[in-house]
Amino acid sequence: ALPALNDASLLRIAGLIDGEWVAGSNPLAVHDPASGAFLAEVAGHGAEQAQAAIQAAERALPAWRARSARDRGLMLARWAQQLRQHAADLAALMTAEQGKPLTEAKGEVLYAASFLDWYAEEGKRVYGETVPASDPSKRYWVWKQPVGVCAAITPWNFPLAMITRKVAPALAAGCTVMVKPAEQTPLTALACAELALRAGLPAGVLGVLPATAEESIAIGKVWCESPVVRHLSFTGSTEVGRLLAAQCAPTLKRLSLELGGHAPFIVFDDADVDAAVEGAMQSKYRNAGQTCICANRFYVQAGIHDAFVERLAERVAALQLGPGNAANVQVGPLIDGQALAKVRSHVDDALALGAQLRVGGQLRGDLGASFFEPTLLTGVTARMRVAVEETFGPVAAVLKFDTEAQAIQFANATEFGLASYFYTRDIGRALRVAEALDYGMVGLNTGLIASAEAPFGGVKQSGYGREGGHQGIDEYLDIKTVCVQV
Ligand code: ADP
Repeated sequence: ALPALNDASLLRIAGLIDGEWVAGSNPLAVHDPASGAFLAEVAGHGAEQAQAAIQAAERALPAWRARSARDRGLMLARWAQQLRQHAADLAALMTAEQGKPLTEAKGEVLYAASFLDWYAEEGKRVYGETVPASDPSKRYWVWKQPVGVCAAITPWNFPLAMITRKVAPALAAGCTVMVKPAEQTPLTALACAELALRAGLPAGVLGVLPATAEESIAIGKVWCESPVVRHLSFTGSTEVGRLLAAQCAPTLKRLSLELGGHAPFIVFDDADVDAAVEGAMQSKYRNAGQTCICANRFYVQAGIHDAFVERLAERVAALQLGPGNAANVQVGPLIDGQALAKVRSHVDDALALGAQLRVGGQLRGDLGASFFEPTLLTGVTARMRVAVEETFGPVAAVLKFDTEAQAIQFANATEFGLASYFYTRDIGRALRVAEALDYGMVGLNTGLIASAEAPFGGVKQSGYGREGGHQGIDEYLDIKTVCVQV
């Protein structure tokens, strides 16, 4: 059932277009992944509302762009304050529809608010340049201006933070923006929209259009094909990212794509083994392994292998699996049956090809709809699916290696390039390996790398563009060169 909220008006079941709550044409059912129970029916939008949202965003643009960055920033800061004030309700909604443990959900609310705070400030620092001209009779000004109407399509694994991470820099830059949240998690997105209105965001500056999986495709098409929409930001699978990029090609839209990952986690012989185990736990089992920067393959050097595996096994065996709203639970359900089937098949494939099951490995139908035990596999080889594909579940796969060169080669042998991690106490090795890893992000002696102040994003098939940091706002700014004859 839906959680009881302190503020019942945070439960919104219609989309937000032009400052109004708008009914949809294709109802969207929301379920609790822990129990499979029906939670709510939300107004599902489609192509028609996608068009209406573009028009609203276009109408709202001139006035929003004309405000001072300070004004826009104050509004974003008020919105962040609203998120913090209603953190308990937002977390309860998030856990209900997404499944993550309540403590993680509360953490995500603060993380989501941190992007609003960060860009409330960064918006004030969109500096231009004056460039000395080679012709003495000329002067150059270089300005940064908002790209215009923007669209964002977000995933279910971080139902709140993936929205603010895109919306905050867009709004701070002076753009207006429309969001299509994941079909699994519209309630968190709509509560966030309600709080945006309370913070004073004018009509049309933000649109939120919940939609079924099918209608999401239709909305995506309308936004990609529209010449009015100047930027699309997407977080999700590489497959859908490629499709959206192709759909955006005819209008040459600017794109930020944060796609799949397949993060290596390397532990060298000289590592602090306790720190490496701690980092492995944080990087692997957060959100039941359903983040695009979760470690997916553990490469552990021969000399430290057994000690690392032994301590990791103890920690994994101690993890509490259960519904996210139950006390002390550390690992919740997977998002749905399809996710469960993928994890199951990765584990079965590894075991069939000779991996050893050290911890877990079982479905737990007794706990609810989509629970899989936190799992540790050793003796994994490069032929196994778990070593070549993103598992997106609570399964740590350990491979052994001998030399630094091997570790780098194995780590880079993938089409993905989002996050990577390694543990060493040798300063030379730290620099060599960090430089050699073909990834957008490297965690050196840490399993937690994401924060509002640091750019987040990938290389290769993990996409392009950066979110967070001072770089994150550049995605929403066009550069204009003004050449002046004096
Ligand atoms: P995941 O595996 O995380 O569900 P997806 O890439 O399928 O990843 O989905 C991420 C987001 O992209 C969701 O909001 C989903 O509704 C949306 N989406 C999926 N396919 C399309 C599409 N063809 N056009 C537009 N949006 C899409």
